[in-house]
Amino acid sequence: MPGYELINKKDELREINKIFENGSVFFRQGFDKIRNGIFKTNDFEKLFCKKINSKYALAVTSGTAALRVALSTLNLKANDEIITQAFTFVATVEAIIESGAKPICCEIDETLNMSPDDLEKKITKKTKAVILVHMLGTSGNLNRIKKICRKKSITLIEDTAWGLGGKYNNKYLGTHGQIGTFSFDYAKAITTGEGGMIVFKNKKDFLKAKAWHDHGHENNPKVPRWEDTRNSSGFNYRFTEIQAAIGIAQLKKLSKIISLQRKNSKKIWSEIKNLKGVFLRKSPNNCFQTFDALVIKFHSKEKAIKCRNELVKRGLGTKILPEATTWHFAGDWEHIKLGNKRKDLKFNESRKILEKHLSIPINCFMTNKNITNIYLSIKKILD
Ligand SMILES: *Cc1c(COP(=O)(O)O)cnc(C)c1O
Repeated sequence: MPGYELINKKDELREINKIFENGSVFFRQGFDKIRNGIFKTNDFEKLFCKKINSKYALAVTSGTAALRVALSTLNLKANDEIITQAFTFVATVEAIIESGAKPICCEIDETLNMSPDDLEKKITKKTKAVILVHMLGTSGNLNRIKKICRKKSITLIEDTAWGLGGKYNNKYLGTHGQIGTFSFDYAKAITTGEGGMIVFKNKKDFLKAKAWHDHGHENNPKVPRWEDTRNSSGFNYRFTEIQAAIGIAQLKKLSKIISLQRKNSKKIWSEIKNLKGVFLRKSPNNCFQTFDALVIKFHSKEKAIKCRNELVKRGLGTKILPEATTWHFAGDWEHIKLGNKRKDLKFNESRKILEKHLSIPINCFMTNKNITNIYLSIKKILD
């Protein structure tokens, strides 16, 4: 997750300076007389659309906000259900709770993403949307999940906070469902400090979300903002021009970031793949992975933990797996109320899968010594 590794004064600061040189307007709209035609948030949204071939984009304050604003398009009622997966970041479920709907989690499969089989079992008459999460830079089984949602007329939202730049069937993640959400927090592929983006297939959803994220403002060009027309209440999840300036500079580096991550992952995997008892995480066919983590699998939970301890001993870390699932695995959440049936709250199937996996964080810049150390840790456990 290394967008932050490539921040410099030449690119990010230069973009920010353009705001300071043109009236220092940090608000995304209005103040036309002093801003000299500089609209960084608009530019960032346009650039984002172009990058991932999407039609409409809306920048918001965070990836969590992106999910919440996405859900504002659905006219949810108290007993409506939204299905997501048991392995995600807690934000996905928090956004569902904030929207007033009931979060239902389903099991994952060997891709570490939503199990289409379990999704089919969990859909009810009350299901209004499915949030598929592309965890750790690898897509879920989009083919099957898209089909299931289409057949049942359920909205598909892709939480792509962790998959920006990834593809499935040569089409960017986040653009397969009706809505895709992204995060630019400091640990993501590109960062604006905090921030998020939503992309939409339909103009109607886009306009509704755009108004809702701005107290219901419709930005009616015929009236000044203080007299603006509105059709709904909303909230404030507005992006700032400073964030957008950084985002523009970062987005231009996305391809480079992903190719460096892929190169480093490949290097590490080519060293360890000949060891006995270690496998690559399963990914769906036709998935282009972003590899901000190299996820590997062992025969047992014990091996994964031993390997994790060996990596830590050498001053190296792991990412989420096998530990730190408390923020990422619904089976470990005691502080959140899910809408699942009581007997379904353990997610034993998912737990069994997660326990055997280990995730190695990948940076843009990794030394050969670094890579050798990772190899030696794993070799020591498997020999
Ligand atoms: C990071 C993340 C989010 C939340 O994004 P923030 O910008 O930190 O609010 C949501 N979902 C997933 C899968 C994430 O990894």
